[in-house]
This record gives sequence, structure tokens and C-alpha cells, in this order.
Amino acid sequence: MNIKQLIQRIRKGANHQEELSDEVVVGFLRILEEVREEDEPCEKIYSELDEYVETQVHSKDAARLMPLVREHLDMCSECCEEYEALLDILEKTADSPES
Ligand SMILES: [Zn+2]
Repeated sequence: MNIKQLIQRIRKGANHQEELSDEVVVGFLRILEEVREEDEPCEKIYSELDEYVETQVHSKDAARLMPLVREHLDMCSECCEEYEALLDILEKTADSPES
């Protein structure tokens, strides 16, 4: 079934039963957006990534202190790349002798 057919079917259904009001459609779209946000918490992880990396560099157990971040890094390659880049920078900074 293509999209045009689907829309026509929804329209027919709405005409007969008047169930598919704008309110219903908007409500449905809102639910979809909420689900999407839960599936992509990258923004939240990004805001905590600095703290996570800093904890890691200072030899604390970052994975235990911030398990949600660790969990996300295991699942999300984009955030994991960002994490490894940050860790690399911080470790180099930490290793360099004080001047
Ligand atoms: Zn992510």
C-alpha cells in the first residue's frame, strides 16, 4: 500500500465515523515525538559526557558512578566516538609534564 492509498483510506474512515479528528492526529504525533526522544537521549548524554570523562581520567569508577552514560556509550557509536575523543584529549593533557 502506498501513502496516497493510506491517506485516502484514513479520509474515508474519518468521513464515515468522524473518529480521526485533528486533535486525535496531533495527539498521536505528540506520542510519536515522545517515544523518539526516549530512544535518542544523546543530548542528555552529551551534557554529562564532560563530567564522565573527567571522572574516568581521575581514576574514579565512572562506569559505576554514571551507569546510564556507560550504558548509552555501549549502545551508541556516535556518543562513544565523542567520548573516546574527549578521553584522548584529557589523557594527553594529564600526561604532559607541568611547566
Ligand atoms: Zn548517543
